[in-house]
Amino acid sequence: MEKREQLYEGKAKKVFKTDDEQLLIVSYKDDATAFNGLKKGTIAGKGVINNKMSNLLMQRLEKAGVPTHLVKELSDRDTLVKKVTIVPLEVIIRNISAGSFSKRYGVEEGIVFDAPTIEFSYKNDELGDPLINDYHAVALRLATWEEIETIKKYAFKVNEELKAFWNECGVTIVDFKLEFGRLSDNTIVLADEISPDTCRLWDSKTHEKLDKDRFRRDMGGVEDAYIEVMKRLTEHI
Ligand code: ADP
Ligand code: UDP
Repeated sequence: MEKREQLYEGKAKKVFKTDDEQLLIVSYKDDATAFNGLKKGTIAGKGVINNKMSNLLMQRLEKAGVPTHLVKELSDRDTLVKKVTIVPLEVIIRNISAGSFSKRYGVEEGIVFDAPTIEFSYKNDELGDPLINDYHAVALRLATWEEIETIKKYAFKVNEELKAFWNECGVTIVDFKLEFGRLSDNTIVLADEISPDTCRLWDSKTHEKLDKDRFRRDMGGVEDAYIEVMKRLTEHI
């Protein structure tokens, strides 16, 4: 399958049409942004790692009963996916306090929750992806109640699978963001990516950050952190 017209260039990926109406090619870049595009940079080799990692994790999720957009990895940076209409909600699951949760509620990072939490942000760059609740999402017709129930069920299932898997790798998954989409028959599937760009991943023993927070917070060692988590993953998959 070959790339045709470019449909979209986002902050981390490009999206291309193919000869099949129902399929797209996503191409992962090394570009990195944070704080709604305010901070820009590159992380050498990130695109290759995120492409492979996302595909390996999605394959595992498929086996666990979570439908995904993944069709086939085409090359280091390119993957064939099912075209979806993205539900404009960022679905965030948290196991441990960090990031905007810590800031919003004035608590330190690292509080382990008794049970995972879920929240939604309205995927809208102009508005800065504001937090939204399920009633508001339905009122704005971003999704139906039935779709939201399905999305919640899949998101918690993804969490159980990712927690168990990363645990085998000596990595703690602190929180992450998922995106879901509708196929042409309205079936909900997991789309976009699962990578150190979209997850907080801490070394289980040292709590060292192995994700995009190293870039967001100018901590250095960004490339090495991506390489390290990818190494751990490939040793255990
Ligand atoms: P952003 O749009 O936030 O800058 P990216 O650079 O990752 O993000 O761009 C990829 C875009 O492709 C995102 O808007 C994402 O919602 C969308 N996308 C991901 N998977 C699919 C898919 N299977 N079908 C259609 N769009 C998708
Ligand atoms: N996240 C993401 N894209 C976003 C916002 C958040 O992938 O636009 C991920 C982020 O990497 C983290 C989780 O979602 O793993 C929770 O992020 P948080 O709400 O704490 O926001 P941040 O600290 O990134 O502002």
